[in-house]
Amino acid sequence: MSLPASCVTATYINLSYSTLRAGKRTNEWTRRRAKLKVRFERAGITRCEVGYPGCQGDYGLSFAHYDKRRFLRGDQLDITVLACIFNCHKKLEAMPRTAMKCEVMRIISERARQP
Ligand SMILES: [Zn+2]
Repeated sequence: MSLPASCVTATYINLSYSTLRAGKRTNEWTRRRAKLKVRFERAGITRCEVGYPGCQGDYGLSFAHYDKRRFLRGDQLDITVLACIFNCHKKLEAMPRTAMKCEVMRIISERARQP
């Protein structure tokens, strides 16, 4: 099944990470994300680590931080879990700040292998 051209364009625009208007912090995260991706792949983490009901597995993967990204600096940005963006990441984001932090740290501590 192919998507109508308008869909493809909309997806491209939404998911592309343009650096045209990105600030220093966005650029830093873009660099770190690329490195994290390699580290996670090497550790064999290529599916959502959260696994809440409705989890989409390896579809639409994203890194979920242990706190809202605006509160994080430097190496703190590397403390993440791999989460499907449309289900698990969304649910993590909807949690109160401390609950989200506990949940992300729990998932990290239960990993068989750290990235
Ligand atoms: Zn998931």
